[in-house]
Amino acid sequence: MNYIVETEIVCPFCGEAFATAVDTSQGDVSTIEDCTVCCRPIALHFECEPGEVLSVDSSRA
Ligand SMILES: [Zn+2]
Repeated sequence: MNYIVETEIVCPFCGEAFATAVDTSQGDVSTIEDCTVCCRPIALHFECEPGEVLSVDSSRA
């Protein structure tokens, strides 16, 4: 099974959407990732089941 899932997120600063790879093998994931467009830090929370991302929450870090 492939636990790395490409997931589209929307930057809360600039509104641009881009894809990021999420490791779903450990369940829910909280991380901070810099926007690929405006480079500001986005606080991300992924609700995961192994092999699948159920929902994405993004907010300003
Ligand atoms: Zn951005």
